[in-house]
Parts: sequence; structure tokens; C-alpha cells
Amino acid sequence: MKPLVPQDCSINTATLGFKAPISIIIDDVASHGFGAIAPWRRELAGEEIRAVARHVRDAGLKVNGYCRSGPIPASSAEQREACHQENCKALREAAELEAQCFVIVAGGLPKGSRDIESARDQLADGLERLLREAEALGVPLAVEPLHPMYAADRCCINTLHHALDLCDAVDPDASRKIGVAIDAYHVWWDPMLRDGVARAGAGNRIMAFHICDWLVPTRDLLMDRGMMGDGVIRLHEMRQMVTEAGYRGVAEIEIFSDHWQTVDNTTTLQTCAERVSKI
Ligand code: ZN
Repeated sequence: MKPLVPQDCSINTATLGFKAPISIIIDDVASHGFGAIAPWRRELAGEEIRAVARHVRDAGLKVNGYCRSGPIPASSAEQREACHQENCKALREAAELEAQCFVIVAGGLPKGSRDIESARDQLADGLERLLREAEALGVPLAVEPLHPMYAADRCCINTLHHALDLCDAVDPDASRKIGVAIDAYHVWWDPMLRDGVARAGAGNRIMAFHICDWLVPTRDLLMDRGMMGDGVIRLHEMRQMVTEAGYRGVAEIEIFSDHWQTVDNTTTLQTCAERVSKI
């Protein structure tokens, strides 16, 4: 396997802490040699999306993923409909950006609920509906399983097999554009990981590969992800797994960290560029 170079990588803009406008971020990411960018909806609020898409193209970048869906489960039919409409709006933005996938962070328990089974039951229906919309727009969906510590408040799809089961439920013959985002941070601990990656590859379902590191100890459930190489995830082995499973897309660097988000963007981007060569 060839060493990873920045051109094979994407910067998820959350890594840079949303400190600068998207136009500056695009130029910074490109000037450090990265091949792609994964922007967030919050950065594009008030922007002319087609102009941003043009800027990304002109900078020589691709949008490998667009972040991200809001929750699918909700406590009433009206709220589910409102969530669906918001997700459809995000999908239209993803289409305008020519994003290679739209990331689904499916949602946890609806407010006031303790019924995780019902939340999970709502997902297949909601996802099937969203997939029809996504197909009409030509945007693949990437369901991202999140570490179980987020099951209550962010995403009740918590392992790779679990996400693949959901994909199979809405797309039994693996003919539609729905798959998974494999985020090292969320799945590295899973004893079924190797098997899950192979299954995802066999179904042509690996839409994205996200990297960062798991720090020991982890001080904060959300904002203490590590720079690649600073923690305990065997990223090289994981990259090998996804590559052997047929994934040919970029490795997306996605580090939610109150440390890296406050460091200046040049330092963060330089460090990312240097660290990926060791993966
Ligand atoms: Zn991720």
C-alpha cells in the first residue's frame, strides 16, 4: 500500500473549528495539498452554494462529503415531517455542492423518550423516504454509525453491522446509492470491525472513511478527539482493511477537539499533512 499523501485526504472543516469563512478555509485546505474538503451546513448559511461549489472546483478540490443530516426519529409525526423536510433541504445543498455523499447522523432518542427500539424502528422508514429524495438528486447517502456513548443524544446506530443492517433493510439487493461512513473514532473498538468492513466492501457500501485518534484518557465525549498518531487507534491497519474491501475514496480527517480547533489553521493543516504519511 502506498503511503498516504495529503492529496488522498480530505479535511472535514470541523477540524479547523469554524474560525474562518468557508472561502478562506477552501484556499487553506487546497494550499496545503489536500485533495478534498467536507464542509458543514453551518458554514454555508447565507452563502450562495453554487458559488462555493465553483470555488471548491477552481481550488482543485472535491467535496467528498457534506455534513450532515439532522435526526430522523422524533416524538411526533409533525416533528418527523419537519426533520425530513430539513434533511431534504440539506440534500439539495449537497447536490449543488456536487458532494460525493451526504452524511447521515441518524439521531438518538426523541426528547423525553426512553424507547431506543422505537427510535431505531423509525429510522428505516425515514431513511427509505430520504433515499428516494437523494436518488432523485443524485446524492449517495452515507449512514455513519456512532460510538455507543452517543446512542441517546446523537445516533442510535452504533456499530458498522448495525448500520449495514439498516442499509440492507432499505436496499436489500444493494443496488441503490446508500452505504456507510466508516469513522475510525466510532468503530475502532468493535470486535466485529474486520468482518463489518469486509461486508461493507462486498456490498459496495463504503462511502467514506473518517480518521482521527482515540486519546487515553478521553476528557470530553465530544471535543477530545486526537490527531492521528496521538492515540491508540491502529489507523494503518484500518486503512488497509478499507482498501482491501475496495474503498478508493479519500481518507477524511475529522477531529473534533477543543485543542486543535483553537490552534491556528496553518499549524493544524501542516500537522495533518505530516501525520497522514504515517498511516
Ligand atoms: Zn465521522
